[in-house]
Amino acid sequence: MPVLDNTLDENVKNPYKVEITEVTDENKDGRVDLADVEYLLKNKKNILTLLEGNGDFRSDECIELLKEADVVVTNPPFSLFREFVAQLIAYKKDFLIIGNINAITYKEVFPLIMQNKVWLGASIHSGDREFRVPDSYPLQAAGYRVDKNGTKYIRVKGEGIEIEDYMSQHQHDTNCTELWLYFQAVINWIQATFPNYRGKLMKGLDWGIYHNKFGKGKYDPKKLETRIVELLEDEDVSHQKGIYEYLLDGEERHLSIRAFSSKMARTAYERQKGICPRCGKYYEIEEMQADHITPWSKGGKTIVENCQMLCADCNRRKSNI
Ligand SMILES: [Zn+2]
Repeated sequence: MPVLDNTLDENVKNPYKVEITEVTDENKDGRVDLADVEYLLKNKKNILTLLEGNGDFRSDECIELLKEADVVVTNPPFSLFREFVAQLIAYKKDFLIIGNINAITYKEVFPLIMQNKVWLGASIHSGDREFRVPDSYPLQAAGYRVDKNGTKYIRVKGEGIEIEDYMSQHQHDTNCTELWLYFQAVINWIQATFPNYRGKLMKGLDWGIYHNKFGKGKYDPKKLETRIVELLEDEDVSHQKGIYEYLLDGEERHLSIRAFSSKMARTAYERQKGICPRCGKYYEIEEMQADHITPWSKGGKTIVENCQMLCADCNRRKSNI
């Protein structure tokens, strides 16, 4: 931080406390912003003090600071989000925080929403969100942008925010009957569609989104249950938590169907003597890809007898059919 004096080691994060009692447009650029705060910290009565510890919100000195607060405004560490919210509630603080939308499903957070103690704020209702980040911020995120002035932005996917939309539109409701009915509808739909509850598999799935997408579809719970049992016994299904979504939308990728081992691929290659069975040409093994002769969806297993090596072109053409 530029506001820290130069005696501090730049490579060490030095948590500090800043007391700002006066902010004026010091640099006369027509607005009060962080540049003015920086100027004031260096020149006038605003005070910067280093903390003794590492600045962890759970430390005694940070709790002492929290006790003084009327409102907490921050971007808590996502990995400690639950703990952070629990601490705010324990100390009865008002707060304005940024969190992942999934946080509303946490067992520590959802009851607070139901009791009308926490609301979702204004947000973007569709598309991705972009956040400006400091110049020193490492750009490792999947999406980011640097504008012509060199200002950095990271981009966060705006997927599956129906519940968030709903809640931000209803944040001023005097009671949460409507929200309660909505969650009841989701739960009723799950119970009617998948009556056999399997905690380990069903916990943590995006049921709200499934309900919004598939809730009006016709599904036969008995047939679904039979398929679930079959899929659970199928050794080629390597992602069992994907079974429910697969049954709803039919997309095999949710199941991560087991791939052929390199040993199986080698055996098939030797058996074919390096010839691609589709185009009849010879290839090195590195140029070929292992393929299910009978597809998994038609009962073909991931075993050496069901493995053939295709050249990259033929494999691509086959999977495009
Ligand atoms: Zn070929």
